[in-house]
Amino acid sequence: MSAIIMDGKALAAKTKEGIRAEVAKLQRKPGLAVVLVGDNGASQVYVRNKVKDCSECDIACYDYYLPQESTLEELLALIGELNGREDVDGILVQLPLPAQIPEKPVLEAIAPEKDVDAFHPDNMGRLLRGDAIYQPCTPSGVMEMLKEYHIDPAGKHCVVVGRSNIVGKPMALLLLQENGTVTVCHSRTPDLKEQCLQADILVAAVGREKLITADMVKEGAVVIDVAMNRNAAGKLCGDVDFPAVAEKAACITPVPGGVGPMTRAMLMKNTLTAAQRRQKA
Ligand code: NAP
Repeated sequence: MSAIIMDGKALAAKTKEGIRAEVAKLQRKPGLAVVLVGDNGASQVYVRNKVKDCSECDIACYDYYLPQESTLEELLALIGELNGREDVDGILVQLPLPAQIPEKPVLEAIAPEKDVDAFHPDNMGRLLRGDAIYQPCTPSGVMEMLKEYHIDPAGKHCVVVGRSNIVGKPMALLLLQENGTVTVCHSRTPDLKEQCLQADILVAAVGREKLITADMVKEGAVVIDVAMNRNAAGKLCGDVDFPAVAEKAACITPVPGGVGPMTRAMLMKNTLTAAQRRQKA
């Protein structure tokens, strides 16, 4: 068996086209403020990509670069200013932050209605309750891909490997909301292989190259690889041993070109939603 490769890049392009069409209906362009603190190389690439996505969707992007040695107070002052700005619908603070700045007070300072990453406790609580305004971008991107490929989690056994606040936990909640039966695995799960073998839909979100091997995957499973790792040669790769698992799975996401582009498209979607809500209010 050879799996269907789920094309996140194509779906992201289609999604962004749809967003651009919706933006054209608004009285004012949506605005996204992207804040980068410090000189983390990977974060600089992510921010550049977000600027590009905004331009493709006709969303105004306001990018802010604060020096590595910035303080929590300086960052909070900027967030306070952005919270009050009429032309800013969404605010994103790129993570990770430099060590001297704690994450929690920063994420809590973003006005929940402008929290397009959906990391504010209000938005996380709404997600738990099943009435989210914004869904976190990576798991909602996965849900869009499942929908595009007509994969309904209802009645399926979904196994999520990883339990971070930004990927694993919200992923589990969204699958549960769509009536999947969900198991969440993590570093203390003693029998990872046994758990993964139960999966009709397997989502890997750990950050370890080749953690998921073909012997851990049920024949005909759907395999979603969220991870973005660098292998020894510096090449981008996921958690899944792609060539071997693709022989067993029914559908599989590649890395790159799978979940990553959809995460970015979902940020644009949340920014559009923020603008639509504010223009209606
Ligand atoms: P994270 O905060 O480091 O969480 C990793 C999770 O994996 C933790 O819950 C950890 O368990 C679990 N884990 C570690 N080793 C394990 C093992 N041997 N077996 C089972 N579980 C194990 O990472 P994250 O932020 O969720 O990101 C996960 C991956 O997704 C990374 O590669 C990241 O780069 C990628 N990512 C991709 C996108 C995208 O757009 N595609 C977006 C965000 C993140 P404990 O909780 O017990 O420590």
